[in-house]
Amino acid sequence: MNFALVGNQNSGKTTLFNALTGANQHVGNFPGVTVDQKIGDIRGYKGVTVTDLPGIYSIRPYTQEEIVTRDYILNARPDGIINIVDATNIERNLYLTLQLLEMHIPTVIALNMMDEVRQNGGSVDVKEMSRLLGVPVIPISAVKGEGVSELIRIAHETAKGRAYPSVTDFCFSGPVHRCIHAVAHLIEDHAQKDDISPRFCATKLIEGDTLISQRLQLDENEMELLEHSVVEMENETGLDRNEALADMRYTFIENVVEKAVTKCRESKEYLRSVRFDKLLTGKYTAIPVFLAVLLLIFYLSFSVIGTFLSDLMSLGIDYVTGEVDALLGAYELNPVVHSLVIDGVFAGVGSVLSFLPIIVTLFFFLSILEDTGYMARVAFIMDKPLRKIGLSGRSFVPMLIGFGCTVPAIMATRTLASERDRKLTILLTPYMSCSAKIPIYAVFCAAFFPKTAPIMMILLYVLGVILGVLVAFIMRKTAFRGQPVPFVMELPNYRMPSVKNVALLLWDKAKDFIQRAFSIIFIATVVVWFLQTFDARLNVVTDATDSLLAVIGRFISPVLRPLGFADWRVSTSLITGFTAKEAVVSTLAVLLNTSVNNLTGALSTIFTPLSAFAFLMFTLLYTPCVAAVAAIRREMNSTVKMIGVVILQCAVAWLIAFIVYQVGSIF
Ligand code: GDP
Ligand code: MG
Repeated sequence: MNFALVGNQNSGKTTLFNALTGANQHVGNFPGVTVDQKIGDIRGYKGVTVTDLPGIYSIRPYTQEEIVTRDYILNARPDGIINIVDATNIERNLYLTLQLLEMHIPTVIALNMMDEVRQNGGSVDVKEMSRLLGVPVIPISAVKGEGVSELIRIAHETAKGRAYPSVTDFCFSGPVHRCIHAVAHLIEDHAQKDDISPRFCATKLIEGDTLISQRLQLDENEMELLEHSVVEMENETGLDRNEALADMRYTFIENVVEKAVTKCRESKEYLRSVRFDKLLTGKYTAIPVFLAVLLLIFYLSFSVIGTFLSDLMSLGIDYVTGEVDALLGAYELNPVVHSLVIDGVFAGVGSVLSFLPIIVTLFFFLSILEDTGYMARVAFIMDKPLRKIGLSGRSFVPMLIGFGCTVPAIMATRTLASERDRKLTILLTPYMSCSAKIPIYAVFCAAFFPKTAPIMMILLYVLGVILGVLVAFIMRKTAFRGQPVPFVMELPNYRMPSVKNVALLLWDKAKDFIQRAFSIIFIATVVVWFLQTFDARLNVVTDATDSLLAVIGRFISPVLRPLGFADWRVSTSLITGFTAKEAVVSTLAVLLNTSVNNLTGALSTIFTPLSAFAFLMFTLLYTPCVAAVAAIRREMNSTVKMIGVVILQCAVAWLIAFIVYQVGSIF
């Protein structure tokens, strides 16, 4: 037996899902966190599962969320629907409920957030509401776990007894009523053949839902009759078809609310949010406040807390590496295997792991922004500027995450409504300089621009953003024509961030990162070690210039000559940078026979300030690392597109570095 959990965004579906299944899905104070469906077993009921679906406001076929949820109900055919209704906002929530009732599937209503309603002096006559809607209504508080066991007991009974909603007519006479019945009658055979409710099909057809008309395979004659009935209704009511149906639904809802609901006063949380929003989304204050918040977060992550923790982590890793090194030495292990463990695995995975704290710190702040409800405002504030480059405010969140790490940023694009917006955002995120590039910037700026280092760092970030915007602009005029989806997002009330939510989110991200360090990056470092240790005849090399890696580096270096850095060691470091960007610095250190701390002097033997700047531009822009590329492949669901992104990135990088170097040379 399977239940579908359906409701508006932010109505508490995931919270209820977690309460029912004991799972730890991410609950967000940010609409649209759940975009995939997630299935879990209900505790205490053997063989009964529940599916958490994306939040929607109406069963239309437009956004990604709507399509996922709608297809699930129509095609996977759950045995029952648990419709979760936010009791603090009954009118709007019931709009979806009425459409669900038409679908003729055993349904129960979980009236959520009852704790908040009670607290603010409201109440609901559950019996009366249940009578008017023709389905069981169970008051619950998903957060507190109140009423949840009662809910599942009744849902189970309802589905088992195949108790269908007893009310499906929302008006009892008049032109709309006549029209719906005429259409339902007209298409009844088709709908029954496909085993979906004729009544549901009728209202959807009247709304002009082409997916339904295709699905039912209506012929021309039937389409004409349908259109005829609808036009007649429009003439009689003086409303257009969508308005007429919306009007019918709201009239019905008004009656339910009037009879069964005592409204609560506006909640403290809401009034407080309105006050905060005066400042945080105010016309003149929004952007400055946002920039200040952003700067503070970056400052804390990159130069205070994150760096401190990272240094600590490096110390720990160095210590363990040293101990293992000594142990293996004492054991007189085969020197090649010894080198594999120390120079390959420990150096490679270690250098990436030492980065974990900065990323975790950044995510700590980002998850606080999300959980407090500020992230939704950020999307709202940035909507207007982003629209100019063909994106909507929602794209901003993945871009922001991209400054930390491209991988979760690309995953975060799942919350975007349309495929077009999603793909365009995925293309853009690699231009947001990820935190793994910081070591490269830091070393090179210290070596070549010691006086202006901080300015150069900021310049690199800004140049990345500007180029990203330019690329988006060009894409918009060519491959991604069309308009971004209109920005519709509820601004949730501000809340204190919950420790549990933030901890869960952090753990999720850290786990992702650690898994990556021990899988892809592990393999990549071993491969690099191999190429570095052996020559073409698989003998252990004594001089790094003979290694396989050097051979490959030399092969590529002519391509980089016009950019000012033809040395094979540089091209080699760029190859290892593909496994993880921080590897660029460590590879250069190894190949120049020095430590990372003394790299400054050695670098000036192979770079001039100009070629160093061209190199920085190149590393800023060239292909994202292996893990990010893998994420792009997964999210775009196409290897060809993934290769396309890599080639595009490299081409842009080459071109910009070329221009920088050649133009710079003239002066
Ligand atoms: P979804 O978008 O429908 O999956 O909603 P979530 O489960 O992510 O919850 C949205 C927000 O509502 C979260 O901040 C929850 O903590 C909060 N919430 C969920 N259920 C309740 C409830 O019963 N009472 C109160 N006061 N808040 C709730
Ligand atoms: Mg959810």
